[in-house]
Amino acid sequence: MNDILPEVSATWQRVESIVCEVIESYGYREIRLPVLEHTDVFARAIGDATDIVEKEMYTFRDRNDESLTMRPEATAGMVRAGITNGLFHNQRQKLWTLGPMFRYEKPQKGRYRQFHQFDVEAMGYPGPDIDAELMIMCARMWERLGLSRLWLEINTLGSPETRAKYRDELVSYFSAVKSQLDEDSIRRLGKNPLRILDSKNPEMQELIAAAPVMTDYLDGESAAHFERLKALLDAAGVPYVVNPRLVRGLDYYNLTVFEWITDALGSQGAVCAGGRYDGLVEKLGGRSTPAIGWAMGVERLVALYEACGGDAGQSAPDVYIVAVGDAAFPAGMAAAENLRDAMPALKVELNLGGGNFKSQLKRADKSGAAYAVVIGEDEMLRKEAGLKPLRTAEDQTSVALDELARTLAERLKR
Ligand code: ATP
Ligand code: MG
Repeated sequence: MNDILPEVSATWQRVESIVCEVIESYGYREIRLPVLEHTDVFARAIGDATDIVEKEMYTFRDRNDESLTMRPEATAGMVRAGITNGLFHNQRQKLWTLGPMFRYEKPQKGRYRQFHQFDVEAMGYPGPDIDAELMIMCARMWERLGLSRLWLEINTLGSPETRAKYRDELVSYFSAVKSQLDEDSIRRLGKNPLRILDSKNPEMQELIAAAPVMTDYLDGESAAHFERLKALLDAAGVPYVVNPRLVRGLDYYNLTVFEWITDALGSQGAVCAGGRYDGLVEKLGGRSTPAIGWAMGVERLVALYEACGGDAGQSAPDVYIVAVGDAAFPAGMAAAENLRDAMPALKVELNLGGGNFKSQLKRADKSGAAYAVVIGEDEMLRKEAGLKPLRTAEDQTSVALDELARTLAERLKR
């Protein structure tokens, strides 16, 4: 679990604000969810034979002996909240959330025990128009963030019936080579054979590559859904790769699944992943509601943003106010407040803790500010300030205090 320090959080803020802006521009509204849920919510939604439920959840009993879990992902809680608050019945919802998730994983680059996800979910839309739009929205985000080396992989898991038929095929295929399976896969063979396809064990990859593919068992309706999705992505000019072995780590998906993957971050290359889960609302006790969504790892997104040359933008103050002497300090403080009134986005730092002219100016320089505004007793009596450019060769000038905001706006081109 990481501390996100100020040098880093400035970049996070920038990335998050761009992502939020894009999501909201598609008509999604924010929902804020609790970090704790009853364990049952995740166990039922995500499924027992998944990495998350088998070995990654932070679960404990509270003082009332109820089993609670720190959320490992947002979808289950989102669905639980929608049912609790009656958001789904005869309604359509486009929702997003952002926050920390918790998984007991082996920490490594791009994989942490507390990490953050943006989560976007649309309920009440049977698709495939929304399936396509959710991916197009991601493509727009990458563009806005200046990201490259990122591609889209899509697949379909078909209807529950197709999936059952395919499941049987997989069981007979993997049973025939059981002696070559690793321990996880043998366990999954009985419980959830599709999950074998999601194995990260390199030794399993050859067997997986030769396994039967879902697309050969697809029913007509699922195939039509998938074809329409591809056509809509083509029409929007969003490239994709069909990966018939893409399943997802969670049990609840049907039809469309997809991942945005990068090769710029080493082995933890999945930046954003999602899919359709038409059965989940009913499974958690609501009325049958079609639904689809995606989750994006913020740590991996920020890492990719930096790898592509993105930065935090300006984090230094615009102005540092040097107020020398006890008598001048209130005038300096008033000048700072007046500037913040006049330009709410201006970053104004007032020298605190006193100090002589030289030491204050040194702090001003170190702060990275573009200008120092100097107010000593003389300036104060004349209702003026010295405006000293710290990053350019311009001369220092005297400015009337009530002209300060206007002059700075001009100089800083605000
Ligand atoms: P992976 O295959 O990398 O374990 P996953 O299938 O478990 O990912 P999801 O549950 O689909 O991941 O979560 C969506 C996204 O959240 C991932 O694509 C990734 O960007 C991010 N993510 C998942 N687990 C972690 C983690 N432990 N640390 C950082 N980011 C994570
Ligand atoms: Mg995982």
